[in-house]
Amino acid sequence: MPHPPAGKRSFAIDGHAHAAPPLAPGLYIVATPIGHLGDVTLRALATLAAADLVACEDTRITARLTQRYAIAAPLLAYHEHNAARQRPKLLAALADGKAVALVSDAGTPLISDPGYRLVAEAVAAGHAVIPVPGASAVLAALAGAGLPTDTFLFAGFLPPRETARRKRLAALAAIPATLAFYEAPQRLGAALADMAAVLGMERRAVVARELTKTFEEFRRAPLAALAAHYADAAVKGEIVILVAPPAPAAAPDDAAIDAMLRAALREHGVAEAATLVAGRSGLPRRQLYSRILELQRDADDDA
Ligand code: SAM
Repeated sequence: MPHPPAGKRSFAIDGHAHAAPPLAPGLYIVATPIGHLGDVTLRALATLAAADLVACEDTRITARLTQRYAIAAPLLAYHEHNAARQRPKLLAALADGKAVALVSDAGTPLISDPGYRLVAEAVAAGHAVIPVPGASAVLAALAGAGLPTDTFLFAGFLPPRETARRKRLAALAAIPATLAFYEAPQRLGAALADMAAVLGMERRAVVARELTKTFEEFRRAPLAALAAHYADAAVKGEIVILVAPPAPAAAPDDAAIDAMLRAALREHGVAEAATLVAGRSGLPRRQLYSRILELQRDADDDA
């Protein structure tokens, strides 16, 4: 679709045209729906219609949105595989006084999506960066979960492999905040099992699935119950996992830590035992690793 001249740009809702006022130069970070197409803001539509250039992950996906609202925006692909090549073009357009919009396939760019380097380099070059906020799965999940929202930590996607995943979970375990993760459906069962093992079986959690879509679902239960529910289930759709903050507990004393380490060592190797007890106690993994070596030395001396 040809791009109309600046000042004549518009978008249409249900066949009713709306003028899109010209934009000041700068990089506009535009949120788009995460499912329900109604979750696009009027400002997002006006921004996409008035932008000189719209950088998007997949031009076919963004074209569905622009066509639905009769927006004649010139689209340019910007994704993890071509970002290094495309970024200079976008920065050159900004230097030329253009209004450049960035969108991802769904939700808010930069939130587990491309855009961080572009924004960092635009800021470093002195260009205006203007967020146009809207949907993001992590915020939709928090809004409906019923877990504390005063302090939360968004941890993105966990590593796909168990050892790295457990290590990452152990590093997060003692943080006094609701934890938020994105997860792929085929890994949901394994991720929940690791969360139950490392963060605690009884810790409250929520699986938020297919948010804003027809089959939206919130499943609220302790981690062990969620892990059991999803252990062998064939799950479909998009998923956010939220985990409640750890219950405030008296710090375990040295004897209790030694007992936890000995119990963990009966079933796991040294590294894994240190990771597990770090998750449960909140103590640094390195300190626990050293303590295991001490315990093993003492045991050898006694033998
Ligand atoms: N930038 C997006 C945002 O602001 O939410 C996230 C992009 S990330 C590549 C995609 C992941 O977000 C999915 O794998 C899923 O974990 C989560 N997600 C996206 N849409 C969702 C939805 N409708 N319901 C639940 N989770 C969703």
